[in-house]
Amino acid sequence: MELGIRGRRALVCAASKGLGRGCADALAAAGVDLVINARGAETLAETAAAIRTRHGVAVTAVAADITTEAGREAVLAAAGDIDILVTNAGGPPPGLWSDWNRDDFIRALDANMLTPIALMTALLPAMMARGWGRVVNITSQSVKAPVAQLGLSNAARTGLTGYVAGTARQVAPSGVTINNLLPGIHATDRALALDTGVAGSAGITLDEARARRAATIPARRYGTPEEFGAACAFLCSQHAGFIVAQNILLDGGATNATI
Ligand code: NAP
Repeated sequence: MELGIRGRRALVCAASKGLGRGCADALAAAGVDLVINARGAETLAETAAAIRTRHGVAVTAVAADITTEAGREAVLAAAGDIDILVTNAGGPPPGLWSDWNRDDFIRALDANMLTPIALMTALLPAMMARGWGRVVNITSQSVKAPVAQLGLSNAARTGLTGYVAGTARQVAPSGVTINNLLPGIHATDRALALDTGVAGSAGITLDEARARRAATIPARRYGTPEEFGAACAFLCSQHAGFIVAQNILLDGGATNATI
């Protein structure tokens, strides 16, 4: 399907690997020029080169921590005019409710709520002035169905979701849509790290840990960054202009809910 966004310009944050890279790759396949970001310069440069070679679009790579003010300034300065914003960053660490103090919450809120809000605040006005824009925030399945040990993530991402619910309706009259994509378990480095931890603590192999987790998903497998990216690119497409303020689960059916 032609997505109708060829020649548009997207900023995809935290995109050297995993879900962010999946989104960058799918947008590039639709002919979108990219600004991509991650902290590690080397992997980011490799990803940028691979996307340029594969899709022939322009890719600017900005190595910076998107959760810091200085990092966001560097990324936004390099980005210039942006039609499509995909927000993303690493998730907060797991733990127990009694482990966390105010500083832990501030860090989580900064990374997974206030950073996407700051990026939207910076980029929405020009999108609105041009009468067209797309924002996709990568949040988590945990917004719909909390993961008990991810209290910091549950709190920060739900806060972002509330912000999007109102803001999306304020910017929609200007042709700008904001939606959230909620990943369930996907085969990325983050999933590998979690499975490695489980394998160690349960005294089982990594394959066994993976198989046990996959068995909890109705689709009986993990999602892929390619599938996730394709959904993101569709939400950013010309065809998705009437999809506003939605929270779309990509979880293979894992969240057991009717709506
Ligand atoms: P991943 O495979 O570990 O990739 C994370 C990417 O983000 C890397 O490119 C990383 O590069 C970059 N990054 C991390 N922190 C950053 C920062 N502060 N500033 C700029 N770039 C940063 O992770 P993923 O699985 O794609 O997960 C992406 C998001 O989805 C996370 O918030 C995660 O919690 C959430 N999520 C994932 C799953 C899943 O199953 N994969 C499920 C639910 C939610 P550098 O390290 O070089 O910066």
